[in-house]
Amino acid sequence: MTVQQTPLTPGRRPDPVRDPWRDAMRLALKEAGQAVRGGDVPVGAVVLAEDGTTVLGTGHNEREATGDPTAHAEVLALRRAAARAGRWRLSGCTLVVTLEPCTMCAGALVLSRVDRVVYGARDDKAGAAGSLWDVLRDRRLNHRPEVIGGVLAEECATLLTEFFRGR
Ligand SMILES: [Zn+2]
Repeated sequence: MTVQQTPLTPGRRPDPVRDPWRDAMRLALKEAGQAVRGGDVPVGAVVLAEDGTTVLGTGHNEREATGDPTAHAEVLALRRAAARAGRWRLSGCTLVVTLEPCTMCAGALVLSRVDRVVYGARDDKAGAAGSLWDVLRDRRLNHRPEVIGGVLAEECATLLTEFFRGR
């Protein structure tokens, strides 16, 4: 009997010097900061085009600001990126987000066909990219983006901790 190896993409430990996603994560962090103004939890996201540097769309949590339960950073960034690209299919693109996506956002990411999802802080209570669920790498789905977690994780987590402490 042969043991089937599961070809999961491991949550790569980012190289502090050469990690290519740090600049994009800094942009996402900047976006996250804007959420606070509307009373929203600071989570920010950016969608990068195929070249890995061109920003197609950005978003931050606007649930409180707009009264929309689906106004998560990832969903808003995906919508803007698709509008800019002129297509719903975002193959080749990378979404970078400060917090591990929830089930709704993970579902939207699978449907958008992005190649890669890069996140900062883990969300042990609601994360759907490896913590509580692993929707993004569920082998029953026909599209599975690469998942890279832990990029600038401390900065991303600190932003959230400080927000909740201030409440
Ligand atoms: Zn979400």
